[in-house]
Amino acid sequence: MTDDPAGYSTVLCLAEIAGLVHGFGGAGWSEADFLAFAASLDLRPVIMRQVHSDTVHRLDEVPAGKLEGDALMTNAPGLLLVIRTADCLPVFLVDAKNRAAAAVHCGWRGTEKRILEKAVQAMVRSYGSEPGAMLAALGPCIGSACYEVGPEVRKSFLRAGFPPAVLAEAPGRPGKSLLDLRAANIWLLDGLGFKNDNILDSGSACTHCEPHLLSYRRNPGDSRRMYNFIGFRLGS
Ligand SMILES: [Zn+2]
Repeated sequence: MTDDPAGYSTVLCLAEIAGLVHGFGGAGWSEADFLAFAASLDLRPVIMRQVHSDTVHRLDEVPAGKLEGDALMTNAPGLLLVIRTADCLPVFLVDAKNRAAAAVHCGWRGTEKRILEKAVQAMVRSYGSEPGAMLAALGPCIGSACYEVGPEVRKSFLRAGFPPAVLAEAPGRPGKSLLDLRAANIWLLDGLGFKNDNILDSGSACTHCEPHLLSYRRNPGDSRRMYNFIGFRLGS
């Protein structure tokens, strides 16, 4: 992952795809900054009211009203799919052959509802995407060392079929677990037939530890969110 002076980071494999625009935003961007950036590329941003659901929207054009949900997908150039985060994991899915992309909001609730799996399945149905040929890029999120959860969260993940390895015991904290959001979502991608090399994971940046990223757990009073975006430019 490379950091752009504009305040977002990109993934080389995605940057190489002609016409594809993407980035994982940092703390430096206001909503106005982001909207100006989108306008400068002649892209229409689609920003949902995110509700930690497993709702995936297919977009063929800019929606008339504000959508409620946690994943967007499109094969229409000119749209910029947006996921806003502060600790949750943003994931981009790309089917370069069919020129389709998705942006998915994977917090613990969405992950437990397997929203990433549902987004991939929706791309398979809508665009004929093949998981073995798709790319997935994981942005920064809260790291497992900083993400303590209670026994009820652990129980719900195990009930949803996740392996216990994604919830290590929190050292010296009986009953508490450390949730690894990245590992849980990579496990879903593995199960769908994604190739290891096609799962692009920066791996290191923890939103809770890195001061240049926003973290709800570090600063619950801060209502700012990071803008993560992906879309195909017009004429591409
Ligand atoms: Zn951390």
